[in-house]
Amino acid sequence: MKNTQQLPPFPSQTPLSCIDIGVNLSHKRLCKQAPEIIRRAQAVGVERIIVTGTSVASSLAAEQLAKRFPQSLSFTAGVHPHDVKHCDEQTLTRLKKMLDNPSCVAVGECGLDFNRMFSPEATQKEWFHHQLTLAEQTQRPLFLHERDAFEPFYNILKQHRDNISGGVVHCFTGTKKALHAYLDLGMHIGITGWICDPRRGAHLQELVSEIPADRLMLETDSPFLAPKDIEPAIKTNEPLYLPHIVKTVARCRGEDVEETANNALQTTRRFFSL
Ligand SMILES: [Zn+2]
Repeated sequence: MKNTQQLPPFPSQTPLSCIDIGVNLSHKRLCKQAPEIIRRAQAVGVERIIVTGTSVASSLAAEQLAKRFPQSLSFTAGVHPHDVKHCDEQTLTRLKKMLDNPSCVAVGECGLDFNRMFSPEATQKEWFHHQLTLAEQTQRPLFLHERDAFEPFYNILKQHRDNISGGVVHCFTGTKKALHAYLDLGMHIGITGWICDPRRGAHLQELVSEIPADRLMLETDSPFLAPKDIEPAIKTNEPLYLPHIVKTVARCRGEDVEETANNALQTTRRFFSL
């Protein structure tokens, strides 16, 4: 079948070496096209993609993809707060087994999401604790998700802080207070194409320059969060658009695009031991 999705022009002709730290490549909207998505990403300089695990099944699917494309993909193993209501006594054993795989670079995504409450609050907290404990036991970094749950999330994370090796609060869209609280805890921050949204991303455009270069990482969170300022509008986000996000972040920080890209690349390699 012919691919009819029209792809907008690239913002930069020169490939920018970068790593997309959050791609839901095992998602049904992306997985069938994985080889093409990887190829298109590489053409613009995205040298590696970290495939996000959001449940045991999606983490296993991410593991399979990483096995097929070891030169291009790493993955995380964890359960998103939306999915923790399906966890059982097998869950931790299964995640632990995936974490033995050297391609598995983090525990997550895990955390709290009180925006839509797809899982009960108590269950979310319980499984956040479990996955933080897993990160302590395995000494793997954490890929963290927090939405509309700053205080309980921060308090639980703080309890584990001294025993975990590190964490990235992915898709950060929170307040200045939350940003500095995470930075003070030693966390890294993941910025998505949310920042490209002229309306919703305005506060983030101001805040992003407060993130030290050695704590800042970049991600598309594909197939979600397509940058809103690309014309014609993108239906399905993919890592191809990471350089566009890099460019926006660089502009907001008053840096050269190459400097932002290179700093984020070094930070990402260090954080995930790539
Ligand atoms: Zn997330």
